[in-house]
Amino acid sequence: MFDIVLLGPPGSGKGTQARLLVESIPGLKHLSTGDVLRAEVKNGTPLGMEVKSIIESGNLISDDLIGQLVSAWVKNNADATILFDGFPRTGSQVNAFVDFENEFNRQFAVIELVVSDQDLLDRLARRCVCAVCGYIDQACSLTDGDKTWTCPSCGAHEVVVRSDDCSEVVSERLAIYNQEIMPIRNQLDKHGAVRHVVNGSQSVKEVQKAVADAVAQDKK
Ligand code: AMP
Repeated sequence: MFDIVLLGPPGSGKGTQARLLVESIPGLKHLSTGDVLRAEVKNGTPLGMEVKSIIESGNLISDDLIGQLVSAWVKNNADATILFDGFPRTGSQVNAFVDFENEFNRQFAVIELVVSDQDLLDRLARRCVCAVCGYIDQACSLTDGDKTWTCPSCGAHEVVVRSDDCSEVVSERLAIYNQEIMPIRNQLDKHGAVRHVVNGSQSVKEVQKAVADAVAQDKK
């Protein structure tokens, strides 16, 4: 049981690399707290209604709510190796995460994607996501739901342009990330976790290779 924590700012390629990892590692399950929250919003659940405006403002959901959401997800996937994407994101989430790993005798490695703020801003301004298969494209000067877009992966015409990818909210999200990441790194390092730093500005294929190399090292 070797869980993976994928760290990186919004737009660093976590979602894309997570999909590639899941395709290449049998039994690996992807927990993206952002995706789970967006699904709750889309489905209009009580949780979704509670978190909608917070997500749209670029702020973080409370540690309590995230803790409940992650616990429920993990309970349903207890036997799987888990790829954590977007969690842990605060000092208190790191503590909860490390307690969970210890309690269930699990091990984990951390892969951190590093990309300059300017590259992130450029990428997020062009990002759109396939509503059907989750493929992340960089092609967009589209509006949400534009039917002229065709997913390069599954051929669907259902595009999502995230409302929190607009420039004001992106600045807020990056500021929060830059503020939280240092304590998160320190806490994970203190715990003795192996943290692989990968240059996320390379091509998708190059990043994929660096990530795969990091995962292979952990298995040794
Ligand atoms: P993401 O898809 O990871 O960029 O997350 C989108 C939004 O969901 C964030 O800006 C937060 O509002 C919320 N969110 C996702 N994961 C977390 C988390 N671990 N802690 C708090 N808020 C989160």
